[in-house]
Amino acid sequence: MPIWSEIQRGVLDALDEPALVVEGHILVAANGPARDLLGGAIEGRDIRLAIRHPQALEQILAHRSAEIDVTGIGELGRSWRMVIRALGKDSALVRLIDRSESVSAERMRVDFVANASHELRTPLSTVLGYAETLAEEEDLPLELRWNFGRTMREEARRMLRIIEDLMSLSRIEADRFIAPNDRVQIDEIVSSAVANVSAMRAGRDCPVNVHIPADLPPVRGDGAQLVQVFDNLLANAVRYGCEGSNSKVDVTAVRSGRWITVTVRDQGPGIPREHLPRVTERFYRVDAARSRESGGTGLGLAIVKHIVERHRGSLEIKSTVGVGTSVSVRLPLAL
Ligand code: ADP
Repeated sequence: MPIWSEIQRGVLDALDEPALVVEGHILVAANGPARDLLGGAIEGRDIRLAIRHPQALEQILAHRSAEIDVTGIGELGRSWRMVIRALGKDSALVRLIDRSESVSAERMRVDFVANASHELRTPLSTVLGYAETLAEEEDLPLELRWNFGRTMREEARRMLRIIEDLMSLSRIEADRFIAPNDRVQIDEIVSSAVANVSAMRAGRDCPVNVHIPADLPPVRGDGAQLVQVFDNLLANAVRYGCEGSNSKVDVTAVRSGRWITVTVRDQGPGIPREHLPRVTERFYRVDAARSRESGGTGLGLAIVKHIVERHRGSLEIKSTVGVGTSVSVRLPLAL
């Protein structure tokens, strides 16, 4: 086994990623991250004991420079780019670059594009179907034409809502590192949001009761985005919580230290526990038919989450099936 000089070891230890040197089939040196990943006592042993991935082993034992993507080293589901560099005739330096984050971001991006396309394709197919009938059938009764026209209008509006929500999301994401800095009065924000959902409440016996102390100090934020947060939360409370008679929605705000927590509470059907962790994902719906038929896009809570994150605040959703849902947004005071 070669004697490893202090400098050689220093070079290996200076690398942040797991790195090891193989001579023949012996793993002669490994830095700290490599020992953490593959086991503390791997030095001086056969590389096949430390790495069991067949393709990776084949490349390493060839002692030729190569790069290969591997999974299954260390924790399940972690993805690595294994970079092998020949050091001489029968030795090689192997580095493992963690690609788990970029792989999962890429997977999310692919899923998102697929979901968004599907969401837009469904109403578009309906519009196209009716448009073709209108264009080709000469003798359609007037009543039927009107019906077709109304359906096409509804479906086109649905597409517009989805596109507007998608544009909102991308604007919020683009600004996510710019902390908002206006002084915003929460009571004014909530009043605007209550006015914005009044059309949705028309015809329903479902008051929105606002309990916000008059002397609440302002929060630090972006007024237009905070109105969007409470528009979406109130729209959900009305959409899902105002079905039965005697239902109501409550909005409360309380100060605690340097924070204000605003809670929107409804008495609707609630969200089953297993769905709760996922409702802020884009296009995730508990009851897709109900969401669609009441004008939901499946993006409301994703928008809320991103805006709250940009405000360095926090979001908490509590729900009990048969009792109701309460969503709390915690925002920093403008000091
Ligand atoms: P949508 O536009 O479908 O309402 P959201 O992102 O706002 O999309 O919400 C995601 C899903 O969470 C909804 O489809 C619904 O199933 C569920 N949800 C959200 N808010 C409530 C609520 N207040 N009561 C019951 N279910 C809710």
